[in-house]
Formats: sequence, structure tokens, C-alpha cells
Amino acid sequence: MKNFDFDLFVIGGGSGGVRAARMAAQRGARVALAEVAAMGGTCVNVGCIPKKLYSYAAHYAEAFEESHGFGWTGAAPVFDWARLKTNRALEISRLNGVYLQLLQGSGVQIIEGWATLADAHTVEVEGSRYTAKHILIATGGRPSLPEVQGRELVITSDQIFDIDPFPARLLVVGGGYIACEFASIFNGLGAQVTQLYRGAQVLRGFDAEVRAFVAAEMVKTGVDLRLHADVAAIRQAADGLLVQLQDGSSTTVDAVLYATGRLPNVAGLGLENAGVPLTAQGAIEVNAHYQTAVPSIYALGDVTARIQLTPVALGEAMVVVDHLFGAAAGKKPRRMSYDFIPTAVFTHPNIGTVGYSEADARKEFGKVSIYRSEFKALKHTLSGSTERTLMKLVVDDASDRVVGLHMVGADAGEVVQGFAVAMKAGATKAIFDSTIGIHPTAAEEFVTMREPVKEPARAP
Ligand code: FAD
Ligand code: NDP
Repeated sequence: MKNFDFDLFVIGGGSGGVRAARMAAQRGARVALAEVAAMGGTCVNVGCIPKKLYSYAAHYAEAFEESHGFGWTGAAPVFDWARLKTNRALEISRLNGVYLQLLQGSGVQIIEGWATLADAHTVEVEGSRYTAKHILIATGGRPSLPEVQGRELVITSDQIFDIDPFPARLLVVGGGYIACEFASIFNGLGAQVTQLYRGAQVLRGFDAEVRAFVAAEMVKTGVDLRLHADVAAIRQAADGLLVQLQDGSSTTVDAVLYATGRLPNVAGLGLENAGVPLTAQGAIEVNAHYQTAVPSIYALGDVTARIQLTPVALGEAMVVVDHLFGAAAGKKPRRMSYDFIPTAVFTHPNIGTVGYSEADARKEFGKVSIYRSEFKALKHTLSGSTERTLMKLVVDDASDRVVGLHMVGADAGEVVQGFAVAMKAGATKAIFDSTIGIHPTAAEEFVTMREPVKEPARAP
């Protein structure tokens, strides 16, 4: 049998790559990991973590405002963008170090630089070649920008974290996770935010009522959301960026953020040298074991362009490791299930959701019952805020199983995570009904909704 330098060579030190490398090394495999940028990948450096830190920062604005109703007095403190950026950068470099230590502590050899495939068992990094029995591609994705006149003047989520100076007027293009989150964040931080979405309603794929509800809440907080709207051209003007819209109107802003989706990082990887095929969408094609058409080469996470979420990349990594090196002592090999993956959108207020939208559930199950509650949270009886909360359950009539659970409201992600466990376990509406609420919370509403709504929701 051929002797390889490593049992596993991981390309990419992001969410999926780091988890796979670490777990494989803990199973006794000889592992190398190549990373060209900061350790931790998108999530740690320009994704989930800095985004959530900025979202926390943005929530303070309303918290200061709302505190007056609870007896606090005084003017709201002044926001210091430079300090937020510095503190975020310090925290991110701490995390970069933690990731590095975790890998080194597990015995993973870290190789800095851009990795390319030379053949089915060989990776080249900065002129050095390494052989491996298995190669795992976990190179993630990057922002995708449409062809638009003035494209060179816009920024993406990769640049927004360090933008200087603070964009007092920000135009956000797109209606997905990133566009909605950053519209909310910069609005909260004090920018005048305009968001353009080309379709009828933001957040395609989410429950129709959730989409309409969160859009209305975002507008209430001050986001100038324009639907059926898109950019025609952007040019530099004396007082900012002059953006011409397709409807003939124009607006002048300090920065234009494009959040129009992400593409898998496959360019320059040498996939052709090993014969790794791509899907029609340009992602690496894998089978149920995350194996490509080349048996020694595996791929996972955003580069396979399935569900682009950090916990999904982590889950896939553990499945690959169990498949290649066996499960941890006393455990069964893990399997990845794509059913009932919970997700949150960190808009203001947050969305938390798990399972089917009402429309998808009707298609899948036929007869469903909808339970819905919309209310002003207790906190806002004194805060002066007009924010409202939406909670919705979708129940399959035949089995009584709760197949969709949706929330728009404070900390919706935190609330929905726990319910996702119940739904994975197949909880029925009867079980929800027999669960005692925690009072007074917003979350208790999920176990106290008794009467189904009569009318199905209208599409946006
Ligand atoms: P990545 O984390 O992107 O890692 C890929 C790594 O590979 C990178 O470090 C890159 O430098 C490296 N690399 C690429 N090519 C090479 C090469 N040839 N040689 C060496 N190294 C290479 N998900 C959530 O679950 N929750 C969130 O709140 C959330 N927020 C997000 C916010 C933003 C703004 C963005 C952009 C994404 C967000 N995501 C969120 C998605 C999440 O970040 C990704 O799904 C996740 O990072 C994917 O992990 P990955 O391992 O596939 O790739
Ligand atoms: P999404 O795919 O979520 O959204 C892309 C948006 O851009 C859609 O509204 C899409 O419109 C619009 N769009 C696409 N092409 C164009 C175009 N040419 N012109 C105008 N608009 C266009 O991508 P994101 O970039 O927001 O995020 C990428 C992924 O990262 C997410 O899907 C998610 O998986 C992950 N993520 C997760 C987060 C979380 O967990 N909280 C946070 C941030 C990102 P249309 O709907 O009409 O196609």
C-alpha cells in the first residue's frame, strides 16, 4: 500500500474544515490543514460572529430609548464606530488564536497558503507538495455581485465590518439573510438605510406571513425598504455615490452594500487536475457521504452550496470524519439529516424558524391547521416601542405533528432552538398543548395557542 504524508488533507480552515481536521486528528489520523487567510473562515472573520456582535451593538440604540419608560433618564450615549470595530477585531483575533490552538493541540499540521489539487492524492501549497489518502475540500464561498454599471464602487459583507468612515447613508441591495440583517444593523447603529429588493417581498423561502411581518417591523424601525426595486447604475458624485434606480429615480448615499448571494470557492483549486466535477450551479458535486466523483476527494460546507449555515458545515464535517475514520469510542457513526434545520435571521426583531412554511406544508401534507398569535410583548407595555411579535405553528392534520414553527420577535433564535428539539422528536400539537408554559415569557405563547386560524395566509 502506498505511503501518504497524511491520512487527511483539509483545504480550508473555516467552520467545516477546522471541525473535520480536529475530529479526525482526535481519532488518531495524521491530518494537515491548509488555510490562506485567518483561521476560522467566513463565520468567525466576516460572518456570523462579527455580524452578531454588531447586531448586539445596534440593539443598544433601542434599549437606551426604551429604558425611559422604565424610569431611566438622561440622553442616550454617543455611538463610537471606531471603538466597536477595534473591540470586534480584538475578539476576532482572540478567536483566530483559539482555533489555531485547538488544531495544534489536536496534532493537526497547519500549512499556510493557497492550496491546489495536483492530482487525486496530492495537494500543492506555496510550491510544496503533500500527499494524502483522503483530501477534504472545505473552501467555503464568496459574495457574488451582478454586472451593474459602477460595480467597482460597491462593497460586500466582506468589507462592511471595517468600513470607514461610518456610512451615514447606506444603500443595501438584496432581500436575503445578509441584506436584511445588515439593513437592520446599520439602521440600529444610526445610519439612514435604504434597502432595495427586486421581488415582491424579502426573504424568499421563508413563511409568507413571517416575510410580510418582519418587513413591516423593519420599516417601522426606519429602514426605507423598496420592493420591486433595483439599481440601474452607480457613479461617484461630489457628495457621495449617486445611485440610479431602474424606476428612473435616484438617491445619493455614502456606501452601497451588495448582498446578492454567495458563490462556491472553486476557482484556482486545481479541480481539473484531479477530475472533480461541479454541479450545474458551479458547486462541488458530492454523494451522500460527501464524496466527489474522485473517491479520495471529499467536499462539504458552502463549497457544495447546499444549506449555507455554520452548524450544517459542522454537522457534515462530523459525518465525514465518522465515515473515514470511524465513530468515537462507544458512539454510533453520525448521520446528517437536513430535516427541521432551525435557522435565525438577525433582523430587528429577529426571525427564528424551523420546519415548513405554511405554503410548503400545504403542498407536502395537504390538510394543515395554522395557529397564530400576534401581540405586543410585555416589555413594550412600558418601553414605548411599537414592536410586535408574531408566532405561528403549522400542524399536519393527519398526524397532529407540528411541522412548522415560526417567530418574529425578540431573541427568536434563542426561543426556536429549544422547540427545534421537540420538532425533531416529532412532537404533536397535543404535546405542545400539554406542555406547561413559562410565565411571563413570549415563548409560552407557543404552548398556549388553542384555536386554529380560519383563513390561509395570503402570499406576499
Ligand atoms: P468557510 O467558513 O467560508 O471557510 C472556508 C475557508 O477556506 C476560508 O477560511 C478560506 O480562506 C479558505 N480557503 C478557500 N480556498 C482556499 C484554498 N485554495 N487554500 C487554502 N484555503 C482556502 N451562518 C450561520 O449559521 N449563522 C449566521 O449567523 C451566519 N451569518 C453569516 C453572515 C455573513 C455576513 C456571511 C457571509 C455568512 C454567514 N453565515 C452564517 C454562513 C456561514 O458563515 C457559512 O455557512 C460557513 O462559514 C461555511 O463554512 P465552510 O467551512 O463551508 O466555509
Ligand atoms: P441569499 O441567497 O439569502 O439572498 C440573496 C438575495 O439577493 C436574494 O434576495 C436575491 O433575490 C437577491 N439577488 C440575487 N441576485 C440578484 C441580482 N442579480 N440583483 C438583485 N438582487 C439579487 O444570500 P445572502 O448573500 O443574503 O446570504 C448567503 C447565505 O449565507 C444565506 O443564504 C445563508 O445561508 C447564509 N447566511 C446565514 C445567516 C444566518 O444564519 N443568520 C446570515 C447571513 C448569511 P431573489 O430572492 O429574488 O433571488
